Amino acid sequence: MRQSTLHTKTRKEAPKDEVSKNAQLLIRAGYINKEMAGVYSLLPLGLRVINKIADIIREEMNAIGGQEVFLTTLQDPSVWKKSGRWQDDAMNIWFKPKLSAGGELGLANTHEEPLTMLMKNHISSTKDLPKYIYQIQTKFRNEKRAKSGIMRTREFMMKDLYSFNRNEEEFKVFYEECARAYLRIFNRVGLGDVTYRTLASGGTFTTGLTDEFQTLSEAGEDTIYVSKDTKQAINKEVYNKENIKKLNLDKSKLVEKKSIEVGNIFPLGTKYPETLGLYYKDEEGNKNPVYMGSYGIGLGRVMGTVVEVLSDDKGIVWPENISPFKIHLVLIDDKDGNVKEYADEIYQSLIDQKIDVLYDDRNVRPGEKFADSDLIGIPTRAVISERTMGEGKIEITNRRDGKTRMIGETEIYNV
Ligand code: ATP
Ligand code: MG
Repeated sequence: MRQSTLHTKTRKEAPKDEVSKNAQLLIRAGYINKEMAGVYSLLPLGLRVINKIADIIREEMNAIGGQEVFLTTLQDPSVWKKSGRWQDDAMNIWFKPKLSAGGELGLANTHEEPLTMLMKNHISSTKDLPKYIYQIQTKFRNEKRAKSGIMRTREFMMKDLYSFNRNEEEFKVFYEECARAYLRIFNRVGLGDVTYRTLASGGTFTTGLTDEFQTLSEAGEDTIYVSKDTKQAINKEVYNKENIKKLNLDKSKLVEKKSIEVGNIFPLGTKYPETLGLYYKDEEGNKNPVYMGSYGIGLGRVMGTVVEVLSDDKGIVWPENISPFKIHLVLIDDKDGNVKEYADEIYQSLIDQKIDVLYDDRNVRPGEKFADSDLIGIPTRAVISERTMGEGKIEITNRRDGKTRMIGETEIYNV
């Protein structure tokens, strides 16, 4: 991608009403556009990051037996009335658009009910189980507060997986498998060191406990107690003697921290299957309700969290796995067009090698190019100038630590 034609420019200032660091940086660097409070569009750079996060999540969900679907955003109220979650006192985040023919629909904020209904057409006997169904799809939530930039929005992309098992025992095995997959996902997106599986509340239909994946950050809305040595944590909501003991933790070693919930996993038990009629016949011919769980990750929240946690005073610092490009090729000091011709060739050869490259071919001062490059945050910057060309070399700078080295022209394929 040539930066001279890239749709979006960097900006000196973020909108005045934008208080969060993640949205300020992402807007200034040209990744997202703020439409209104809690609503952001993805621009080409932002979409590249989200797609990379989605690919990692997909790989890990497929690896544990997940099958991808794409359910509708428009929701049938009658199904939610049956489960008791249509009324605003049960679910206070609904958007409910009106139908022109009269009546109303729901905009999806989660998918337990419609998917349970769908599964009724496909599950009848023990042979049809287990099933692990997921999607990466838009959710709408009428959130009261929208102050955390892209980390708490009213429209966002979520990966939601739902497990359908024969019984609790079989469910538990998958639940732990999924917890491990989540840790791999957060590792791969660059949050591994600061993300903790955290005991939390919310399992209203089962044991009363769930697990969240919490990333340490002062920008977080949650408070957790962290055991660094054992990499465990407890949400403040359920921080008590009993749960400390349950996790086998030493209270004196727990430290209070602010954190961001990047994902969660949730035992649901048989509540939805029982109220909506999802049963299967076992080998003896007995009718049993299916045992469910749900597993969410917010893609925008992950992207915002990476920006909160890894950026510095110059801008964003992407981990390589989710960076919009692998290399930021920057051309400077092109007085008579020679250097540009040379840099164009290197750019073309990187494309031929299928390396994702953003090429700053613009006719602007080096200082401006470097400032923009720091703001955009691609992990490796490759500078080509009159001087480097004369030496047959390219200057490589690591965005994270600012360290610079000279490499031979062909080494760029392996940086
Ligand atoms: P929170 O406690 O932050 O309100 P939640 O417990 O309601 O989230 P779920 O309904 O389980 O979350 O959603 C799964 C995941 O979706 C969350 O872990 C988070 O990563 C993401 N998510 C939830 N709400 C939002 C939102 N308003 N904006 C962006 N991402 C969200
Ligand atoms: Mg939560």
